[in-house]
Amino acid sequence: MPLLETHALTASYGDFQALFGIDISLEEGETLAIIGANGAGKTTLMRSLSGVLKNEPGSIGYRGEAIGALAAPDVMSRGIAMVPEGRRLFPSLSVEENLLIGSYGRKATGPWTLESIYALFPILKERRRNPATALSGGQQQMVAIGRALMSNPDVLLCDEISLGLAPVVVRDIYAAFPRIRETGAAIIIVEQDIAQALKVSNRVYCMMEGRITLSGEPCDLDRDAIHKAYFGAD
Ligand code: ATP
Repeated sequence: MPLLETHALTASYGDFQALFGIDISLEEGETLAIIGANGAGKTTLMRSLSGVLKNEPGSIGYRGEAIGALAAPDVMSRGIAMVPEGRRLFPSLSVEENLLIGSYGRKATGPWTLESIYALFPILKERRRNPATALSGGQQQMVAIGRALMSNPDVLLCDEISLGLAPVVVRDIYAAFPRIRETGAAIIIVEQDIAQALKVSNRVYCMMEGRITLSGEPCDLDRDAIHKAYFGAD
């Protein structure tokens, strides 16, 4: 049985339907990438998985439990943590306070503590007393990732962590992923940069207009198939 799976998952904003019957699965320790153009529904899928959007109870399974109707704190307390699009740090709090907030709401021991987050992203230790807003975009993204890790999650959901960051900064952030994977966590990343997505993941799903249009292992996907799944028919 997969660690996390969706069954014909749908989602709507009022009358507007954003997801149409999504079936995905995530195995223990796997890194999945979800790619797709603007508006394909990637963020909506992440919000559904993290409980920010409520779903039909049976539409999401986690360790055999139907979690689709759970609220975000209850999803988080079971070990699914989200790095949201736009980071959503608490601007008036320090880096360290932002990190500590991530550990509230889940009583789990594991590899992630303030010290191990600081070892992963040493710049955050130097900046730990600064307000989060005093940091660069890349450093803020490190705080957002660190905050999610502080709950010692079994599943880490990362929504567009490279958005708006310089390539060299993106490289520094993705350099942390092998260490995160080593702890056994499964990861889902939403990524608009297809090359980056193929590089870091074991498996990729492509979305278009609220549907999965392609899935497979990076080595099995050719450029034409990805292009078609991403943009539609030529
Ligand atoms: P992006 O890369 O731009 O974040 P995405 O693939 O993450 O795109 P979503 O943000 O999930 O896509 O949006 C899917 C669809 O739902 C889009 O058509 C979007 O306009 C719509 N949508 C998203 N959020 C809302 C909302 N709060 N209210 C109404 N419609 C929304």
